[in-house]
Amino acid sequence: MYILALDQGTTSSRAILFNRQGQIEALAQREFTQHFPKLGWVEHDPQEIWTSQLAVAREALSGIDISQLTAIGIANQRETTLVWDRRTGQPIAPAIVWQDRRTAAICADLAPHADRIRQKTGLVLDAYFSGSKIRWLLDHVPDARPRAEAGELAFGTVDTWLVWQLTAGRSHITDLSNASRTLLCNIKEGDWDDELLELFSVPHPLLPQVRTSSEIYGETSPELFGRPVPISGIAGDQQAALFGQHCTLPGLAKNTYGTGCFLLLNTGEQPVFSRRDMLTTVAWKIGDKTTYALEGSVFVAGACIQWLRDGLGLIDSAAESETLANSVNDTDGLYLVPAFTGLGAPHWDPHARGTLVGITRGSNAAHLARAALEGIAHQVADVIEAMRLDGTLAELRVDGGGAQNDLLMQLQADLGNIPVLRTGITEATALGAAYLAGLGVEYWQDLEEFTNPQTTRFEPSLSAATVRTKRRGWQRALGRAKDWAQEEDS
Ligand code: ADP
Repeated sequence: MYILALDQGTTSSRAILFNRQGQIEALAQREFTQHFPKLGWVEHDPQEIWTSQLAVAREALSGIDISQLTAIGIANQRETTLVWDRRTGQPIAPAIVWQDRRTAAICADLAPHADRIRQKTGLVLDAYFSGSKIRWLLDHVPDARPRAEAGELAFGTVDTWLVWQLTAGRSHITDLSNASRTLLCNIKEGDWDDELLELFSVPHPLLPQVRTSSEIYGETSPELFGRPVPISGIAGDQQAALFGQHCTLPGLAKNTYGTGCFLLLNTGEQPVFSRRDMLTTVAWKIGDKTTYALEGSVFVAGACIQWLRDGLGLIDSAAESETLANSVNDTDGLYLVPAFTGLGAPHWDPHARGTLVGITRGSNAAHLARAALEGIAHQVADVIEAMRLDGTLAELRVDGGGAQNDLLMQLQADLGNIPVLRTGITEATALGAAYLAGLGVEYWQDLEEFTNPQTTRFEPSLSAATVRTKRRGWQRALGRAKDWAQEEDS
């Protein structure tokens, strides 16, 4: 018997089939189109999200008899906003992707309410989240607002859209981890909040029902896979990865080294409100128990390595960054701050830009590669230090493409002063969705059934004085990078 995880990401739809031991049996992936209709706008075609997801699901299932499929779980790109007609199922506009900045002005207008919003949602008031995107659609698509008020339209994040499609419109639901990213959800109550709906001018009839992260939400239409299959687990992709990394107890944290970095710390059954602008979010809700997390994200991490490869032509592959950087013992005083698109947590500076300081006649390509890797590790160390003001962070579990770089992991252990554990779970996001789905149909009873695969450990090894010197240099370099772009060039 198997569990199918649908991992609907920002650039590709993936489907991964897991067996009872939590091992991968089949994997299919398809990229889909990114639309950039105007400066700062990012859109996806909702139909393409669905058709690509359905195609990879069918491909991943092609090697098994469908009677062997126990359940389906979903992990999805978060915050991306869709609105469709309940009767026809037709979207009223393209999906507005989380990266889209068009609603910055709506958020600026709401700035006097930022503290109140923070108390209820755990989030900073920003265009990144769904609330202002829904409002934009209702204000700009003809007739959308009266139709939303009359209950003719449906809003959803990508999980909701996929479940709607999978059940042919019979289920209009979301899970609490996704709801907690909309700016419309009270994370202590675990449901939509009337005051927030009023602030963002979002009519209640538009909204999906908020459910737990692990329960049966509905069954797939029989014609899709040949037989109805229960859909029984949902979480936003980063929360799913936290679950997939077995970070189910307070104090356990994971960091994903992809294009950017997402560090999530399980804080247990109470939401912790950060002193340093980390986000407070729902990790998952199982039964009547809600687990919360603190989240800090770094916008540019692996993307900096891509820049060394594609922008500078310094290396032929991302992996080569390690060999090149290892050909020198240190950066020789070079610092690269990869603030290419501004700085995320804990600095939150949209005007910061990439900065290279400390160049001398002796600086060479290897120093630059090493400075890039250190720059990634320093940014994550900033998040770790900020989180340590709010809670205990004893060790860091890592995944994503960049986690394959041993040097980067050692630098992380050193600069973050934290043991780094590479667990060998390569598909943590999909595995988290599969776990939630398997638990939701009692295919698995709890995660104790699984042992973590082979783990590589990186321990802090530098002297405290050396780390202090490097961190001080980084702080100075950050100072040069911050507040650089002017309005006219940002
Ligand atoms: P995403 O899901 O964001 O596309 P992935 O987890 O697939 O990210 O990781 C890809 C990213 O990781 C790329 O930005 C790439 O530059 C970086 N990367 C991949 N391998 C390495 C490596 N060995 N060292 C450093 N960075 C790497």
